[in-house]
Amino acid sequence: MNKITVAIDGYSSCGKSTLAKDIAHRLDYIYIDTGAMYRAVTLYCLKNNLITADGKEVYKIEEFLDDININFQCDPVSKKCEVFLNGEKVENEIRSMTVANNVSLVSSIKEVREKLVSIQRELGKAKGVVMDGRDIGSVVFPDAELKLFVTADAEVRAKRRYNELRGKGDKVSLEEIKHNLEQRDHIDSNRKESPLVQAEDAIIIDTTDLTRAIQADMAYDLVMERVQLKGRKA
Ligand code: C5P
Repeated sequence: MNKITVAIDGYSSCGKSTLAKDIAHRLDYIYIDTGAMYRAVTLYCLKNNLITADGKEVYKIEEFLDDININFQCDPVSKKCEVFLNGEKVENEIRSMTVANNVSLVSSIKEVREKLVSIQRELGKAKGVVMDGRDIGSVVFPDAELKLFVTADAEVRAKRRYNELRGKGDKVSLEEIKHNLEQRDHIDSNRKESPLVQAEDAIIIDTTDLTRAIQADMAYDLVMERVQLKGRKA
């Protein structure tokens, strides 16, 4: 069967990665969480004291970029991919509130984006990939055969993230999460370098009232449509 590229973008905590994982699993595609890559670079900046005390600037990140090595290791059976920063698994550390509070600053830097976009294009060049983020349909793969833009009610998004973090034992408050989501969405949508936008040809999936299974079915049907279309064109 023809393989395609599926680009999934949207605001923070809308359910993009759950949907992306589910369809990648069903299609036997690889799943790349590009947010994890920006979070890993942020973790590097925090560990190396590259972020100013007021949290508004990053020192000389360009000089450190060659020392930042990011890759994924995927379990061939479960298909679960975990992100590694310079050989160390950082999957848990990158989900902390400290990383969440600094990631939009780091991801607004042109040189950081250039580096990560080039890795993302390399990872997806063989097709058969589901990639989620903020600029996948607009910048990373503007020719993706299927682009989805995922949305959800702000309250629902904050509660989902709250339950996820609380479930892991993080002592965060709902207010703190709401503030972080609002702030990240604002910075991500208004930055100069590849801001979060809905690609013109993206299909919106509002996950507010949809079960996980229904979302996955909808996306799967859309993928199948595009696969057939591609087959007819070939
Ligand atoms: O997807 P996730 O919420 O983990 O993304 C964390 C942050 O990484 C976003 O708020 C955004 O600042 C940045 N990001 C980005 N471009 C992407 C993916 C994530 O700027 N393609």
